[in-house]
Amino acid sequence: MKPATFTYHRASSVRDAVGLLSELAEEEPKLLAGGQSLVAMMNYRMARPGHLVDITHVPGLAGIRRSTGDDGRAILRIGALTTHRAVEKADLGPEFAVLSRAMRWVGHLPIRTRGTVGGSIAHADATAEWCLLAVLLDARIVAEGPAGRREIGAGEFFLGPFTTALEPDEVIVEIVFDRPAPRAALTEYADRRGDFAVVAAGADLDTGSVVLGGVATVPQLVRAAGTPDEIADALDLRDEPGVPAAYRRGLARTLVARARAEAAATTEEDSNG
Ligand SMILES: Cc1cc2nc3c(=O)[nH]c(=O)nc-3n(C[C@H](O)[C@H](O)[C@H](O)COP(=O)(O)OP(=O)(O)OC[C@H]3O[C@@H](n4cnc5c(N)ncnc54)[C@H](O)[C@@H]3O)c2cc1C
Repeated sequence: MKPATFTYHRASSVRDAVGLLSELAEEEPKLLAGGQSLVAMMNYRMARPGHLVDITHVPGLAGIRRSTGDDGRAILRIGALTTHRAVEKADLGPEFAVLSRAMRWVGHLPIRTRGTVGGSIAHADATAEWCLLAVLLDARIVAEGPAGRREIGAGEFFLGPFTTALEPDEVIVEIVFDRPAPRAALTEYADRRGDFAVVAAGADLDTGSVVLGGVATVPQLVRAAGTPDEIADALDLRDEPGVPAAYRRGLARTLVARARAEAAATTEEDSNG
């Protein structure tokens, strides 16, 4: 299937993109990044933007920057146009290696090569790895709009299915991870390799937090989480066509235990050199 008619614009800067989004607001403009979600939705006519604002040529939006905070902690800034594959291949140090390791769960290689971190966060699929990682690690999403830049905590960013706190004329510029998580892991179950997860679970042993995807319309963070049984039993799940609640509860139980075991094993690997 082919998409409905649209007008293509190539933005030269973030300010230019914001200006186009504001100016064309009445005609449903959409930003185009890797196109791995948006173009498929357009082809299926699930999205019919009147205008596409291509940000892939905006300088400075791709790349990973590491710095050190005043307290000596590592800070990671991932530009919105950075691809999943670039993160997978990067050496992020033990503090943020969980991000690279988690990328193997994102689709197939061609999708990881084109799809972007900012696009994933903006698309806000409740099982998307980036959404889960951002919530688990208390990341901040930096967005630019007509009034300038603002930061939104990941915990307040995801509002519902494919719905975020982003204004229609805002562009995600970067995602900031400033709480190192050397003892963290993400794991999941999908029906076929490369598919979106049925259920995904992440664990950070330093905070004791667990995040679950596929069990609600937004990533579910459980702080000071209990045993896998306690976490799974507390989930508010309903039967869905082909996916009984009990099946997802069982997956959640297994995956939380697995994520914790993988996080602990990672630490042992690091200390064994
Ligand atoms: C077969 C298949 C399997 C997949 N499997 C997975 C998977 O397992 N896990 C997973 O996480 N993803 C998966 N994906 C999706 C993939 O990760 C996409 O890359 C991602 O969801 C969107 O990123 P994108 O750069 O392609 O964004 P696009 O498709 O270009 O855009 C997606 C949405 O985000 C908006 N947007 C893009 N960039 C910005 C920005 N900087 N600021 C504000 N809004 C922006 C767009 O306007 C659009 O609404 C899969 C895709 C396919 C086709």
